[in-house]
Amino acid sequence: MEKSFQESNLSGLGMGTWGIGEDASKKKDELATLRYGLDHGIKVIDTAEMYGEGKSEKLVGEAIRGYDRSKIFLISKFYPYHASPELERQSLEKSLKRLGTDYLDLYLLHWRGDKRLSETVRGLKELQKEGLIRHWGVSNFDVADLEELFSVPGGKNCFANEDLYNLSERGVEYDVLPWQEKRGVGFIGYSPFNSGKGDSIRITNNLKIVARAHHVTPHQVMLAWTLRNGNILSIPKAGNVKHMKENIAAMDIKLTPDEIKLIDNDFPQPTEKKPLAMI
Ligand code: NAP
Repeated sequence: MEKSFQESNLSGLGMGTWGIGEDASKKKDELATLRYGLDHGIKVIDTAEMYGEGKSEKLVGEAIRGYDRSKIFLISKFYPYHASPELERQSLEKSLKRLGTDYLDLYLLHWRGDKRLSETVRGLKELQKEGLIRHWGVSNFDVADLEELFSVPGGKNCFANEDLYNLSERGVEYDVLPWQEKRGVGFIGYSPFNSGKGDSIRITNNLKIVARAHHVTPHQVMLAWTLRNGNILSIPKAGNVKHMKENIAAMDIKLTPDEIKLIDNDFPQPTEKKPLAMI
C-alpha cells in the first residue's frame, strides 16, 4: 500500500519549473539551480508536458541524471485534452522519455477539461497498477470538482491537488484546504510569488518590517508564510542559485503569531467563498 501525501513527508519546499528549459542562454544557470536544490535536500520537482511543450521536462531529465532516482519526487502533468486512458498513456510515455526515467511519483491532470473524470481516473489507475506512476492527482480543482472526483470509482485515491496559493490569492483557505485536510488529500500550492519578479505581490511596509526582523527579503517572507502551518508543499520557480538559496533559507523562518497578524492586515484571510483563482 502506497503512503499518503501526509505519510510521505512532502510538505515544505519543492521546485517549480514553468519557463525553465526554454532559453538556451539560461540553461547552465537553470541546471545548476535545480542541482543546488537537489544537493541541499529539496526532493520535489514539479513539471508538466505543457511547460515549453516538453522542454522543461527535458531539462529536468538532464538535471536529475546521476542522482539517486529513489530520493527524488517527480511530478508531471498532462493536458486536459489528454485526460482519457489511451491519451494519458501516450502523454506519460513521452514525459518519461523526456525525463529519462521509468516512473513518475505523481501524475496530475493539469486542469479540468471536458473529459469524464471516471475515464480519467480509470486510465490513471491502470498506469498506477503497472508501476508507471506511483500516485495520481489533479490541479486547479475547486471543492465542487473534488466532490465530483470523489464520487467516481477510485476517485477517493486522489493523492494531491495543486492550486494557486500565495498572499494575494488566499481563497483556498476558506474551503479547499479544510476539505482536503479532512480527507487526507495533499495540497500543493503553486506560484508562491504569484509568478512575480517583485511587484505581483505588493511589498507592503508590514512585509518589509517582518523581513527586516528576520534579516531576509520580503520574497522570503512571502514563501515562509505559505509554509507557516507545515501542512502544504510550496513550489516556487527559481532560475538562479541565489534565488534557490534564499528559498531554501526561507524554510527556517518561523513567523511569530504577531507577525502573521501584521501580514493578515495587508492580505486578509478570506471570509467567504471565492471562485478558484488560477494562472
Ligand atoms: P513563482 O514561483 O510564484 O514566481 C517565479 C518568479 O519568482 C520568477 O520570476 C523567479 O525569478 C522569482 N523568484 C524565485 N525565487 C525568488 C526569490 N527568492 N526572490 C525573488 N524572486 C524570486 O511563479 P511560477 O513559476 O508561476 O510558479 C511556481 C511553479 O508552480 C511553476 O514553475 C510550476 O511548476 C507551478 N505552477 C503550476 C500551475 C498549475 O496550473 N498547476 C500554474 C502555475 C505554476 P528567477 O526565475 O529569476 O529566479
